[in-house]
Amino acid sequence: MFALTGKIALVTGGNGGIGLGMARGLGHCGATVLVAGRNADKSAAAVANLRAQDVPSEAFTADVTDEGAVTELFAAVAARHGRLDILVNNAGTTVRKMPEQLTLDEWRHVMDVNLTSAFLCSRAAHPLMLAAGGGKIINIGSMMSIFGAPYASAYGASKGGIVQFTRAAATAWAKDNIQVNAVLPGWIDTDLTQGAREQVPGLNERVLARTPAGRWGVPSDLAGIAVFLASSGSDFITGTAIPVDGGYSVA
Ligand code: NDP
Repeated sequence: MFALTGKIALVTGGNGGIGLGMARGLGHCGATVLVAGRNADKSAAAVANLRAQDVPSEAFTADVTDEGAVTELFAAVAARHGRLDILVNNAGTTVRKMPEQLTLDEWRHVMDVNLTSAFLCSRAAHPLMLAAGGGKIINIGSMMSIFGAPYASAYGASKGGIVQFTRAAATAWAKDNIQVNAVLPGWIDTDLTQGAREQVPGLNERVLARTPAGRWGVPSDLAGIAVFLASSGSDFITGTAIPVDGGYSVA
């Protein structure tokens, strides 16, 4: 039920952090994993790491906020692999500022990377998934899809938007046998949150105290949900937003 043998999976931002954790999970269940990011060196290192674990993998360099680059990315995937079965819209960023200090350019950048990219990539994936007879789209939200935080106005808006985009796309594409779901990670130890730990005083202690599991998550904690939502085991699940948070959202 969870075998992904023969499936082609594209993970945006799959060259590190949560994206690489998910990519490993998909690869270990048999998928060929394509990682897309801007940093070619980082992507090459991720692919080397995946291949060392016997995961067939390939890197694509693309800025997923750029409509033309996204078109080229999916054309390249189609040309190289002839199909796409699984898309993980994981690329993300943040600018930690109070709303009154945030510039319009910063707002737009966060929205473009976190939300518009998911629309662009999903739209580009749709014809490939149609041709494959179906597909799985996994969008990455956040605890900020649920909660507010003073330093996360654009980030929270983008991650709230991801949940609603997920629901809309799920209803649009159910007829095409494409399931679209969101994953809402809790606090996961990655480059992104290393920055937060440095910039937000007391964050580390607050996360540990508030998370029932009593620890930060690690990227491999996201592997299982990626496999489940990419597999036939989740064929009747669409439009959901599933927390993977050590209990943070229910405490
Ligand atoms: P990282 O900073 O480790 O990873 C972000 C990834 O996004 C990088 O691989 C980066 O690759 C890629 N990326 C950023 N901008 C672009 C772009 N314009 N085009 C293509 N790729 C891009 O962060 P995380 O692993 O922590 O975050 C991954 C996702 O998980 C994000 O959506 C984040 O919001 C979300 N998340 C993270 C949480 C956490 O606690 N860490 C909690 C909740 C959600 P490159 O630099 O090569 O472009």
